[in-house]
Amino acid sequence: MKPIPYSRQDISTEDISAVVEALQSEFITQGPTVELFEDALARFVSASHAVAVNSATSALHIACLSLGVGEGDLVWTSPLSFVASANCALFCKASVDFVDVDPVSGNMCPECLERKLRNAEVSGRLPKVLIVVHFSGMPCPMERISQLARLYGVKVVEDASHALGASDNGVPVGGSNLSEIVIFSLHAVKVITTGEGGMATTNDDDLAAKMRSLRSHGITRDPTRMVEPTGEPWYYEQRDLGYNYRMTDIQAALGLSQLSRLRSMMERRERIAAKYLALEAKAPVFTPCVRERCSPAWHLYVVRLRLDLISRSKEQIFNEMLKRGVRLNVHYIPIHTHPFYRSMGFKVGSFPNSERFYSQAVSLPMYPSLTFAEQDYVIESFSEVLTQ
Ligand SMILES: *Cc1c(COP(=O)(O)O)cnc(C)c1O
Repeated sequence: MKPIPYSRQDISTEDISAVVEALQSEFITQGPTVELFEDALARFVSASHAVAVNSATSALHIACLSLGVGEGDLVWTSPLSFVASANCALFCKASVDFVDVDPVSGNMCPECLERKLRNAEVSGRLPKVLIVVHFSGMPCPMERISQLARLYGVKVVEDASHALGASDNGVPVGGSNLSEIVIFSLHAVKVITTGEGGMATTNDDDLAAKMRSLRSHGITRDPTRMVEPTGEPWYYEQRDLGYNYRMTDIQAALGLSQLSRLRSMMERRERIAAKYLALEAKAPVFTPCVRERCSPAWHLYVVRLRLDLISRSKEQIFNEMLKRGVRLNVHYIPIHTHPFYRSMGFKVGSFPNSERFYSQAVSLPMYPSLTFAEQDYVIESFSEVLTQ
């Protein structure tokens, strides 16, 4: 029997029909279905624009470029994230630094940010862009973070790879005015998927136009954005050095179909999260705290092990669970501790909250098609392994 994974895609027969239909249509690369998907996602998160690309990594890259990140600039992000949150700055030849996380939520800690901004102003090394990560789909306290960033003239990108469908104070992640750009991942394990894919949303017309151009070679076909519009029907202009980061209509058809089911898939995730609360009474773990008026997307369900009360190591727990048919995961190895980042001068020990969080964190199975019977089995096995 295949082990129960920590996450998996949810593909319906409607999704499959939508993809087949796309394959039989006139366009298979970026075409009208990409536009429909962009419009639908923009509407879903109440943003003015959505720009579809081939991955969230590409979305982060063109988000940084469109905000003017370049050589000599500094970008800050959270160490408790997937490496792409930091790599995007290096793609632009900028430097990276990190702001430590809150030890309970794993989200960027506003007090750490405030302290670091104050020191950076004194030393004249303020970042151009701050990339905030909504860890596990739990929205960061954006009002506070945005207020601090504005105070120091720092632009904000939200890496909402985990947070499509989340909202805070009734405002959907992706539609607020608390950041310049919000990016989403549509990778297979994320909340909805296009196989590989990403989306950037913004309320700024110029940033949207820049990102549209950068995802397709820096080319524009819009005469109002040309240097020398000739009026010739075939004419287009390259204005910047862009990339081929386009999404296909095949992927967009899958994305549209998935998006139409996002609400019901979210409800399912919420019910799974509610059921996992039972773990608090059964095993030495802390379950995630949800801030008031905050509705997480529950991309991941990350518990923190109370290691002082557990006789097994995390590795033993992982292997014991695998023996019982459950494949756990761990999010994330702090970015600054990877060999590549250490070779740039980062040191283990420099972001202690993120390192402690990593040592405690375990991601339990969380996906819409996880049955309650399977989840009961996960809860029982996990409690047993932790208390034996
Ligand atoms: C998945 C993920 C990414 C990268 O997404 P891709 O679509 O695979 O490029 C970036 N940031 C975070 C936080 C992620 O979880």
